[in-house]
Amino acid sequence: MYDIYGLPKVKKPFYTKGLKFECQKECFACCGGGPGYVWIEEEEIPKLSALLGISDQEFLDNYTKKANGRLSLLDIASDNWNCIMLKNGRCSIYENRPIQCRTYPFWHSNLHNQEYWDIEKEACPGIGKGKEYTMEQIEAIADGEETIDSIK
Ligand code: SF4
Ligand code: SF4
Repeated sequence: MYDIYGLPKVKKPFYTKGLKFECQKECFACCGGGPGYVWIEEEEIPKLSALLGISDQEFLDNYTKKANGRLSLLDIASDNWNCIMLKNGRCSIYENRPIQCRTYPFWHSNLHNQEYWDIEKEACPGIGKGKEYTMEQIEAIADGEETIDSIK
């Protein structure tokens, strides 16, 4: 059996005792620094355009790019490839940020095994700190049934 990333499904996860994560103030390392994709779903568009006070079409034209048949928030090459929503060192749509941002770092691609998790830890100073998430919570977030914010 394979997961959605084409990786063999792991019989016993390495995180049975839970994992710690807390986004660190003043850090926005995962919001730019190199070309990337912040995927957004069709149903997220109206909320984001309303938040910005523009039409859905204006949002699509000015804030997104298409790649691999999907829609991503734009990254700005002349601004260190930062996400277009990063303003003055913080996410300007934090409460409504896309599901991809609200489920990080508990993505299946990071949870495949301890080695993958440790590699991600190098990039994110919030991994291993703060709130502890149980295995069940981690898997619910990875499956998109919960988010980092929805678990108190
Ligand atoms: S890299 Fe980690 S700590 Fe930094 S902004 Fe992203 S999630 Fe937060
Ligand atoms: S939407 Fe916000 S949290 Fe997500 S990558 Fe952009 S700035 Fe960062």
